[in-house]
Amino acid sequence: MRVLFSAACVAALLAPTAAQASPAEEKSAVDQRVEELQAEHEGLSEELARVVAELEEAEEQLPDAEAAWEEAADELEEAQRKDDELAARLTSAENAQDDIREEISSGEDRIEESERAVVQVGRSAYRNSGVTSDLAMLVEMTQSENGIDGLARVDSAVRGQRRTLTQLGEQRSANLNNQDRLDAAADEVSELRDEAAEVLLEKETAESAARDAKDELDGLIERKDSAAKTIEDNRSSAEDELRRQKEEQDRLAEEVRKWEEDAERDGVPLPGDGELRNPAPGYPITSPFGWRTHPISGTRKLHTGTDFGVPCGNEVYAAGDGVVVSAGTAGGYGNRVVISHGKIKGQSISSTYNHNTRLLVGPGDTVGQGDPVALAGTTGSSTGCHLHFEVMQNGTYVDPMDWIS
Ligand SMILES: [Zn+2]
Repeated sequence: MRVLFSAACVAALLAPTAAQASPAEEKSAVDQRVEELQAEHEGLSEELARVVAELEEAEEQLPDAEAAWEEAADELEEAQRKDDELAARLTSAENAQDDIREEISSGEDRIEESERAVVQVGRSAYRNSGVTSDLAMLVEMTQSENGIDGLARVDSAVRGQRRTLTQLGEQRSANLNNQDRLDAAADEVSELRDEAAEVLLEKETAESAARDAKDELDGLIERKDSAAKTIEDNRSSAEDELRRQKEEQDRLAEEVRKWEEDAERDGVPLPGDGELRNPAPGYPITSPFGWRTHPISGTRKLHTGTDFGVPCGNEVYAAGDGVVVSAGTAGGYGNRVVISHGKIKGQSISSTYNHNTRLLVGPGDTVGQGDPVALAGTTGSSTGCHLHFEVMQNGTYVDPMDWIS
């Protein structure tokens, strides 16, 4: 029964906790998170995205690793306690064994002494009588002048001898009894030694499990600290980059506003009251418009458009009829096309197409809804082929999905 229990204990120590993923699963989870982060934050380098993913992962795994380490430490403490307890029991059993051995040895001394006493009494009686046999001695004693005295001496000698013989018998039986006790003590010592050997194995297993759990925990903490430090080291440059991006967005929006003002003043013919359509029909949205917290700078930034997962080289289409405001490279936006659609529902509406490999239109061109305007790419601040599509309402970035049907 105890052996079964020990085996279960060892199995419990060796079994990984349910929350632990295999290294391969962890790798793919990190890879997946890197992709997500890069989709969510255009221009975030793979290296930094990986650091962020590893930090998140380490933070997520830390509570389980701490719990596993605490559990392993408790198991080790329990194994240590059992080991100590058995050692104490073993020492006490061995001491008891020594005590019994000593009792037996002094018992044997007493037996020897009694045996010598019996022989001594016999010899002394023989010497005093001066005859050659016990019978002759008795006859001699009873027949002497002083017959009564002689009988009394014989009686006393016999009684003394009987006492000694009784003692001797008692000592011999006590020694036999002690021998039984010694055998039982030896059995106990041997059992305790077996048990101690087993507990020692349990303790060694617990020690190894505790060491592994500690290594795992230390590794996680080290990875977490190292990732946090890398993020901290990159924080200010990320802040600068975001500031530059924001300035660029504002400048480009201002350019569009200015262009619209000039166009209105100069009477440039613009389509009106049309409607916008999806510039990348059939492709998935990989990142929506909206505010998000940058994982490196920790500051909030607006994702000014909707990202579509268009492979590099595939055509991107004009969302509506319009005039090309600009077509060229624009810093972080890469190769960019801006189209003014004139007034829709009383609002000046323009759309932009960014990160393209190649542009198919030039400034001032008139385009119709659905005309190819560029080939998708990953130029500028981008880490994968996609279309970053924006809609500006009176020169302000708005959610494109509110405008395309
Ligand atoms: Zn985007």
